[in-house]
Amino acid sequence: MTEAETLLIQQAAARLGPKGVVTDPAEIEPWVTDWRGRVHGATPAMLAPASTEEVAAIVDLAAEHRVPLVPQGGNTGMAAGATPPADGSALLLSMRRMNRIRSMSAENRLAVAEAGVILATLHDAAHDAGMRFPLTLGARGSCTIGGLTSTNAGGTQVLKFGTMRALVAGVEAVLPDGSIHNGLSGLKKDNRGYSLDQLLIGAEGTLGVITAVALRLVPAIAARAVAWVGVDSPAKALELLRFLEARTANVEGFELVPQDSLHLVLKHIPDTRAPLDGTHAWNVLIEATTSDLEADVTNELEKLLGAALQQRLVVDAVLASNEAQAEAFWKLRDSISEAERAEGQTLAHDISVPVADMPSFLVDAACEVEQAFPGVTATGFGHLGDGNIHFHVRAAAHATPDWYESEGERIVHFVDDLVTQAGGSISAEHGIGQLKRDELARLAPPGRIHALRAIKHALDPLGIMNPGKLVP
Ligand SMILES: Cc1cc2nc3c(=O)[nH]c(=O)nc-3n(C[C@H](O)[C@H](O)[C@H](O)COP(=O)(O)OP(=O)(O)OC[C@H]3O[C@@H](n4cnc5c(N)ncnc54)[C@H](O)[C@@H]3O)c2cc1C
Repeated sequence: MTEAETLLIQQAAARLGPKGVVTDPAEIEPWVTDWRGRVHGATPAMLAPASTEEVAAIVDLAAEHRVPLVPQGGNTGMAAGATPPADGSALLLSMRRMNRIRSMSAENRLAVAEAGVILATLHDAAHDAGMRFPLTLGARGSCTIGGLTSTNAGGTQVLKFGTMRALVAGVEAVLPDGSIHNGLSGLKKDNRGYSLDQLLIGAEGTLGVITAVALRLVPAIAARAVAWVGVDSPAKALELLRFLEARTANVEGFELVPQDSLHLVLKHIPDTRAPLDGTHAWNVLIEATTSDLEADVTNELEKLLGAALQQRLVVDAVLASNEAQAEAFWKLRDSISEAERAEGQTLAHDISVPVADMPSFLVDAACEVEQAFPGVTATGFGHLGDGNIHFHVRAAAHATPDWYESEGERIVHFVDDLVTQAGGSISAEHGIGQLKRDELARLAPPGRIHALRAIKHALDPLGIMNPGKLVP
C-alpha cells in the first residue's frame, strides 16, 4: 500500500465511520473479480459512503492524494468496468450503502433513487405506487441504478421503452473536482447547453460518481401474455416481430433463444424445462403487456400467433397459462449467461448491426467463426428486435484452461472485424470497461477516440475516476 493510500484510508475512516471503510481482504475479495470471473483486481480498501456529501468528501480526498477511485454498484457488469487494477493502485468506491428511494411520484411519473438501489427493489416500490419502471434484465436482483445508468444498460424491454438513456430524467453526481451536479429536477425541457446528465449516462464511472437518478415511470401492467415460440430461423423470427408490430402495439419483449442456449440452461439451471415438445433450432420468447384493465392481451396474442402459424412464420407456440409459467419462460431466457458460465469458457460479444441485417449476420458470422476456429461453437441470443445479439463463442469441450489466452484475441478480432464491416457496434449495451478498450482503440474512427479523450481530460484532468476503463 502506498503512503498516499494509507493517508486516504485513514482520513476516509474518520469521515465515514467504521461502516464506511472495509480493509478486511476476505470481505473485499468477492468485489475485486468481475462477474464472469475473467478479470482479477486488487485493492487495499473498499470505501462505502452513505450520502452524496460523503461521496464528495471522498472524491476531494482522492484528488488531494492522487489516488484513483473505481465506482462499483452490484458488480454485475459484463465489461469488467468495476474491477480495480491488479496492482492495487486504486480504491473501490462501493455505492451500495446509498440505497434509499428518495421519492416516488405517480403524478410526475418519476422516481428518484439513490445509486445503490437494487433494480428489483425499485420495481417493487414502483409497483406498490401503482406504477412501473420498465427496464429489466437478468441481473435485476443485484445490479444497481448507478451501475445501470453508468453502463446505459438495455435489457429485454428496450423494444418499447428504450435503454437507460431514454428512461433517465436526470442525474445527481459528484464530479472529479468534488463538486455536486444536481440534475434531479426531472425537467422535461432544459436546453442550457451540453447535457451533463447525458455525458454521465454510459460514462462507466470515468467522469464522476453518480449518486442518485431521476427515473421515468410508466403505468403499471394490468395484464401480460408470455409465449414461447419455435421458429425456423432468425429471419423468420424478425418477420414474426414485424407481423406482430403491424397488428398490435402491445409487444414489448421479443427475445431470440437458439436451441444451443436452451440446451445449456436445461442442463445447468435447476427447475427448468423446455416449454415446447420437440426441439427447434430457434425459439422466441414474446411478452405482450397492457395497462388497460379491459384489454385481453392473452386472447390477442393467441390469435396473432395462430395467424402467424398459418402463414408459416411460426412452427409451434405455447402461451403461459399463468404467472408462474410466465416466470418459468423468462427464467429460461434470463439464465443463459449463468448457464454458459457453468458450461465453461465462453467469449462474449455484445454486438449490434442494423436490425434488418441481423438475421443473416448472425447465421453467416456463426458459420465463418466455426470454420475459422475448428471445434468452437458460435451462436447468438437476445434482443433481435433491437439489432442487438449476444454473440458468444464457446470453447470446445477438450479446450485447455488457457484457451482465452491462447485463442481469445484472435477470435475477438475476427468477430469484431465482421461486426465493423457490417457497420455495427462492438458494444451494444454492456459498455467498454477494460475488456473492450483495446478493441475500441483498434476499430473506432480517430474522431471518436479524440472526443472521448478530450472529454475525459477536461472533466478529470487528474485521472482519478476509474482510470484504464472505457477511454483508450
Ligand atoms: C445475468 C446478467 C444479465 C445481464 N443482462 C443485461 C442486459 O440484458 N442488458 C444490459 O444492458 N446489461 C445486462 N447485464 C449487464 C449490466 O450492465 C449490468 O447488470 C448493470 O448495468 C450493471 O449494474 P451494476 O450495479 O452491477 O454495476 P457494476 O458492475 O458495479 O458497474 C458497472 C460500471 O458502472 C460503473 N458504476 C457503477 N456504479 C456507479 C456509480 N454510482 N457512479 C459511477 N459509475 C458507476 C462501474 O465503475 C463500472 O464501470 C447483465 C448482467 C448479468 C450478470
